[in-house]
Amino acid sequence: MRFRKSSKLAHVCYDIRGPVLDEARRMEEDGQHILKLHIGNPAPFGFDAPAEILHDVIHNLPSAQGYSDSKGLFSARKAVMQYYQQRQISGIELDDIYLGNGVSELIVMAMQALLDSGDEVLIPAPDYPLWTASVALAGGTPVHYLCDEQALWFPDLADIRRKITPNTRALVLINPNNPTGAVYSRELLLDLVQIAREHGLMILADEIYDQILYDDATHISVATLADDVLFLTLCGLSKSWRVAGFRSGWLLVSGAKQQAKSYIEGLDMLANMRLCPNVPSQYAIQTALGGHQSIKELILPQGRLGLQRNRAYELLSATPGISCVKPMGALYAFPKIDPKHGSIVNDEQFVLDLLRSEKLLVVQGSAFNWPEPDHFRLVTLPHIDDLEQAIERMGRFIQSYRQ
Ligand code: PLP
Repeated sequence: MRFRKSSKLAHVCYDIRGPVLDEARRMEEDGQHILKLHIGNPAPFGFDAPAEILHDVIHNLPSAQGYSDSKGLFSARKAVMQYYQQRQISGIELDDIYLGNGVSELIVMAMQALLDSGDEVLIPAPDYPLWTASVALAGGTPVHYLCDEQALWFPDLADIRRKITPNTRALVLINPNNPTGAVYSRELLLDLVQIAREHGLMILADEIYDQILYDDATHISVATLADDVLFLTLCGLSKSWRVAGFRSGWLLVSGAKQQAKSYIEGLDMLANMRLCPNVPSQYAIQTALGGHQSIKELILPQGRLGLQRNRAYELLSATPGISCVKPMGALYAFPKIDPKHGSIVNDEQFVLDLLRSEKLLVVQGSAFNWPEPDHFRLVTLPHIDDLEQAIERMGRFIQSYRQ
């Protein structure tokens, strides 16, 4: 074949939108109705963005015709700076903030700026798979550390320590976690910071769900816990402000910045090369961060997200053949399929069979780099009626499923 894909892509994989989704599209084209619980995209489930954000973008559209500064608009970056100053991250300056086309673009940039061939990055298993994909795309080696389902899906510190080598450059934390819903304790975060300190690792903290918390969960930004470790904290408007389509996110560099002069030059170079992030949606950031935080009502026990998470957890726990750790944050559940129900050897085949038989779309655990074929992820965004139907179909399917 004359035009082959680059060998750089050989180990790059993003199966949340993989072959199973292609099959779902084919089925929809055939007129079949599919219950879709596969993507954390709030708007299609009826979670509208705060009106003032939409108003602001529309109002500012005439001023958004040109490129902005490559790191982003002053007002938006200032708002991000204040967001983290209020959270008590010390020593932040405007220059430490980069805006991006979603957290996604910034994850790719952060890895491209850091890695040489042979460099290793510690990434949780399960993970949000863009992290693994971005490390591989940048020529680095993703090394997965296990999170422990028996311990609230917290990272296994001994496993992290075992996997550190002289080539390890960074430690990725996703907190609150996609796909498990884990929210990390202060003690755990302090232990992770200590590991980074001992081994000279940068911590990359994906905190895109920092405001989506249930029951008594509290979120601690890991960058508040030390100033002698280099932190990159990432967050954005896609989830808490429900405008995933705006592609608006930010990255904050904090802590041991004096050790990162060269790395920061690399980030600046990449920011310049992409000219700037989408300008109209940068105008949403100041209003989003400073305005009324309607997400706080949605996550209450009687708020829509709170009710749906409670019902999904209750039903999953009551379904024979399935167990589930209660998600304390984010928009997902990551249940386990009991081995005696299913004998699953290929979990992608499992979700494909489920899709064809029950018209239900979820994502297999291996798409999140989970090493065993015994988990799947569903989103808790659908209305309760749909969640009930989905979990009932799943329960029925598992009872008789064999590979
Ligand atoms: N990080 C995590 C943990 C996510 O779950 C997602 C999207 O689902 C992203 C990053 C990407 O977010 P964005 O829409 O800001 O690119």
